[in-house]
Amino acid sequence: MIVLKFGGTSVGTPQGMNQIREIITKDNNKKLVVLSALSGVTNTLVEIGERLRKKEKEQATKVIKKLQKRYDEFLEELFETESFKNKASAIIADSMDFIKSCLEKPFTNSIDKELLAQGELMSTNIFNLHLQEHELNSALINALDFVRTDAFSEPDDAFINKELSDILVKQPAETNLIITQGYICRNAEGNVDNLKRGGSDYTASLVGAALNADEIQIWTDIDGMHNNDPRVVEKTFSIPELSFEEAAELAYFGAKILHPSCIRPAQKRTIPVRLKNTMKPEAPGTLIHTKEGSGEGIKAIAAKDGIVAIKIKSLRMLMAYGFLRRVFEIFEKYKTPIDVITTSEVAISVTIDNIYYLDSILSELRPFGEVEVDQEQSIICLVGNMVAEKPGLVSKIFASLQDVPVRMISYGGSRHNISVVVDTQYKSEALKRLNDGVF
Ligand code: ADP
Ligand code: ASP
Ligand code: MG
Repeated sequence: MIVLKFGGTSVGTPQGMNQIREIITKDNNKKLVVLSALSGVTNTLVEIGERLRKKEKEQATKVIKKLQKRYDEFLEELFETESFKNKASAIIADSMDFIKSCLEKPFTNSIDKELLAQGELMSTNIFNLHLQEHELNSALINALDFVRTDAFSEPDDAFINKELSDILVKQPAETNLIITQGYICRNAEGNVDNLKRGGSDYTASLVGAALNADEIQIWTDIDGMHNNDPRVVEKTFSIPELSFEEAAELAYFGAKILHPSCIRPAQKRTIPVRLKNTMKPEAPGTLIHTKEGSGEGIKAIAAKDGIVAIKIKSLRMLMAYGFLRRVFEIFEKYKTPIDVITTSEVAISVTIDNIYYLDSILSELRPFGEVEVDQEQSIICLVGNMVAEKPGLVSKIFASLQDVPVRMISYGGSRHNISVVVDTQYKSEALKRLNDGVF
């Protein structure tokens, strides 16, 4: 079995849906197809939620009307027969009724999650009806029945394995196209939740791992993982092959093409992940499949915003042991992961991206010494096979960044990663200069 995930840009237009149908019907093999919401819809649902939270009912109503219009036009263009168009309209009406009902009740977090789930629920229903209009053997299964997270908000693998296989064995043997929603799930309490923005990639990988799929394919609007962020840097190019580790680092450090966590489940079971372009299916894209990276030097650069850098300066650190442990314990106590660390004899700098407990962390750090905090930082992550002894690599990086104020550099922690922390205002410049300097 192959798992194919199509993102918002792929499902976002009627032409895109036609193209997906062609891709998944090239052969008759059994496939599980994971879909996102139509592009922009999750953003719209987020906006409706924000309006409702601020009690801006009138503005929320306007946004809802625009959303309804988008679906009306979409269905009009996609469906060829009145009967299928009517079936689809009825399903969209159910979701839209739910969305409108949010205007009339107190807006809670759990209603927000249900609101956010409507995008994927609608897109999968539309696509399944589209396949049926073309007389294909498809079935729609509901991700809310088998994707669940545990008390730590981590995917509950055992539950996913069992529930998904129970659902699949019940499908008729001739049904070779199984459609489901990405992103949405239930939490440990059984309430509707999601796997965070961009989470459809994660669903595909979780489901692929649960089924021990032959391959997980992520179809999007670009031909695979590029060597740098194409939204910032011109003339980036697609990387034919990556190791799981390299891809995981790039995803975690901001390569938006993949959800930060989506490589791990595939890596655990050594299932190849292929990144492909829906509008250019003949392009080879990127294959992520090896344990070890191949080649030498830097393969790709990614950047992650929203980083806070914290420096703790203390003379007590000098010649002392146990200091770092006590500092790290504070981050552990507040369940806040640290990404980059640099140290000197009398100071330590760390970065975090979860600022939920920032105030508490800072007040517990202050007794250690002087604490400095820099907000709005970005981590630039250079990934590849850095043979430490290879001359010239570090000087190339430093030379590229000579006019960019650098807050931290972490080198030597692993041979796959060099991280540089800069103020976000210098990120684009740094990415461009590194692109010119290291490739
Ligand atoms: P989808 O809706 O299919 O999930 P996303 O917008 O989440 O699509 O991801 C695809 C986008 O990721 C591309 O259009 C591209 O602009 C962006 N992107 C950022 N960094 C990279 C990178 N290193 N390689 C490829 N794409 C990247
Ligand atoms: N629709 C969700 C989002 O926009 C999930 C996804 O597209 O992966 O974040
Ligand atoms: Mg995405």
